[in-house]
Amino acid sequence: MDALSSLSTVRELVSLGEDAYLELASLALERARELENGEAPIHAFLSLVEEPPPFRGTLSPVGGAAAKHLAGVPVAIKDNICTLGLPTTCGSKFLKGYVSPYAATAVRRLEEAGAWIIGKTNLDEFGMGSSTENSAFGPTRNPANRERVPGGSSGGSAAAVAAGVVPAALGSSTGGSVRQPAAMCGVVGVKPTYGRVSRYGLVAFASSLDHVGVFARSVPDAAATLEVVAGPDRRDATSRRLDLAPASASSPREPSEVLKNRSIGVPAEYFGDELDYGVRRVVERALETLREAGARLIPVSLPSTATALSCYYVVAPAEASANLARFDGIRYGRRADRVRTLSETYFRSRGEGFGDEVKRRILLGTHVLSAPQYEAYYLRALELRRRVLEDFERAFRTADALFAPTTPTVAFRLGEKQSTPAEMYRADIFTVAANLAGIPAMTIPIGDDGGMPVGGQLMCPAWEDEKMLRIAAALEARLGYVHPLAGEA
Ligand code: GLN
Repeated sequence: MDALSSLSTVRELVSLGEDAYLELASLALERARELENGEAPIHAFLSLVEEPPPFRGTLSPVGGAAAKHLAGVPVAIKDNICTLGLPTTCGSKFLKGYVSPYAATAVRRLEEAGAWIIGKTNLDEFGMGSSTENSAFGPTRNPANRERVPGGSSGGSAAAVAAGVVPAALGSSTGGSVRQPAAMCGVVGVKPTYGRVSRYGLVAFASSLDHVGVFARSVPDAAATLEVVAGPDRRDATSRRLDLAPASASSPREPSEVLKNRSIGVPAEYFGDELDYGVRRVVERALETLREAGARLIPVSLPSTATALSCYYVVAPAEASANLARFDGIRYGRRADRVRTLSETYFRSRGEGFGDEVKRRILLGTHVLSAPQYEAYYLRALELRRRVLEDFERAFRTADALFAPTTPTVAFRLGEKQSTPAEMYRADIFTVAANLAGIPAMTIPIGDDGGMPVGGQLMCPAWEDEKMLRIAAALEARLGYVHPLAGEA
């Protein structure tokens, strides 16, 4: 077993004491640096610590329960989540070199559980994109095939876990940025219920859709990491006073018991024309596995699926246009040189600081919120959003959970969709609905198509994250499939 591939291998080594910890920590850093080498670097990280923090013992410094114990575990953090010490750039020229004066709640909780931050990971600028090609600092490549994208926008975190640098990482999801890259890189990705993890310190993209999520190589590891970061936070009014049940609840002890007689809804709209044939085959095999394990597969319908993507691309840009107004060249980030007037400061700082996709979203968002368009677009989109919610409510009346593909295709080639934004947006077609509804959703690796990983998506009713994790752990155990570490094969 690779030393850095799971929380339990790391824990075991760290429990041997300081020498073992330091050896493991340098191995993680060495691997992280290696991702920058060669003609086609993976480029998962935008910044790395110079050296690991000193050994702090084998117990969590803030004496949490054993399950919360992440002592000595290196973790990677998406670069739109604030950390002390390392810059938080959001993949934008605007924030190049910006160091936050405070740490995100999720980051603080990881550190309190004993984990250490190895570095900040690459992303599409401000989380806007599906391939990590919209980073101002160059794209990340997929560890499974360097000619392909890792997905996005949390491509760096997904790649860091897939390449075996860290056993767990944080990302953010507004429309699918945890599940989509996790599926494309062959790792587990969880977007919890909206309000489960504090957004304090996550740089806002679209506040009603933004979530902090986790990446890991197995469901129990993702559950353990989520358990550490989840929970109420007085700094985020949308976080709820509800703790996540201990991660041990999702350990795959009795997969057959968890799956037996479980009703799993299969949404017809997720198996339409846009679903690639190779991906469909792998998903159908996973459905077969669920059936063999005693689950009852029931067809369900989510008619709003076809409009959910359009709804998302009105609501998200609308909120983004308001959130990104704070980047004005005065309060945050870079200011254009030699500006003479206030309006010139705004125009030039924003014009030079933001990349094309961010500008496109701001224009779109400002347009749909403008007085003549507000009703036709924004209010209409809010109506559609309600229908997405109602569809899920109806489906969950008969199904405990839904199972579907995470992405319509495996990871595509670098550059393939960059000149056609609408094509790029379609990469999120199966993930945006769960963000619009705020329900928990996750992906696990279920196989591969031509060597490229395929993800299977589970969705559950709001606040039933534990149930989702238990079903996922049982399916994972039953499938016995783990995508190989890059270079392992
Ligand atoms: N790809 C989607 C977008 O570009 C979702 C991004 C995200 O979840 N951060 O908006």
